[in-house]
Amino acid sequence: MWFQLLEALACYNCTMIMKKSLSALFVFSAFLFVPFLQAKAALPLVPIKVLLVPGHDDDIWGTQYGDMKEADMTLALTTRIYNILKKDKRFDVHVTRDSQGYTKEFADYFSLQRDEILAFKENAKKEMKDKVTSGDFIERENVVHNTVTENTSVILYGINKWANENKMDMVLHIHFNDYPRGWKWTIGKHKGFVVYMPDEQMANWMESGKLAAYIYVQLAKKYISSTYEKELGGLVPDQKLIALGSNGTLASGVRSVLVEYGYIYEKRFRTNSARLQSYKDMSALTVQGINNYFFNSPHPKPSP
Ligand SMILES: [Zn+2]
Repeated sequence: MWFQLLEALACYNCTMIMKKSLSALFVFSAFLFVPFLQAKAALPLVPIKVLLVPGHDDDIWGTQYGDMKEADMTLALTTRIYNILKKDKRFDVHVTRDSQGYTKEFADYFSLQRDEILAFKENAKKEMKDKVTSGDFIERENVVHNTVTENTSVILYGINKWANENKMDMVLHIHFNDYPRGWKWTIGKHKGFVVYMPDEQMANWMESGKLAAYIYVQLAKKYISSTYEKELGGLVPDQKLIALGSNGTLASGVRSVLVEYGYIYEKRFRTNSARLQSYKDMSALTVQGINNYFFNSPHPKPSP
């Protein structure tokens, strides 16, 4: 069908054409070499508002290798990132779930605001359909992501609605990747991390892309980027991921980045001790990327 908006969730990248990842990397790498125009920033007047989203949850846990579920891994890594940012007064950090499940704020929001979230989603889809019809938005063939259930779409669109209303400066979605395999103990073909950023037609794309590039550079110090041909370059624009603000559902000031930190079956996640080391390294590198973007780079300051 010519027009079909997929409700999408990044995680399993099945089939998709991604020609733009290398060019995106090229464009955004240019920002990294711009001489720093600002002196080392002092404490910002208003803390930078960060929302961390550990991918999936206890009901729908994403991918799995052996007995290891993606949702548990995303929570473990997110918690480390949260704990580092929480100690830093320059940030006001929020998280959607913890070891008890969705936090009260988000659990309440998803249930009490369910109708409003569904209306927000339907309205956004209608507006996007009109834009596509009038030629104001060009649909591209991105990686085809998993279609999500209505409940999951309420959660993902709900997170966007909440992030807009609460004026988040950035939202970071944390995931682990998968590639089709025989069964849960099979080791898949590809490895490496990938950082997804909004397509250039999306309102929040420019600053999201810079933030994505800063995180990418840090992760690339230690890890190879994805060997999957649709993710080559490791910095990939996408217009269908709800997490990145598909259908225009994230305001221009809400930077959004989705990181797949590696393929779940990779050696560095196979044992408890290897995973712990990976979480430690990945959290430190991610926070370094966030710090570099907000405090050591030229970019518009978050609005109070
Ligand atoms: Zn995932």
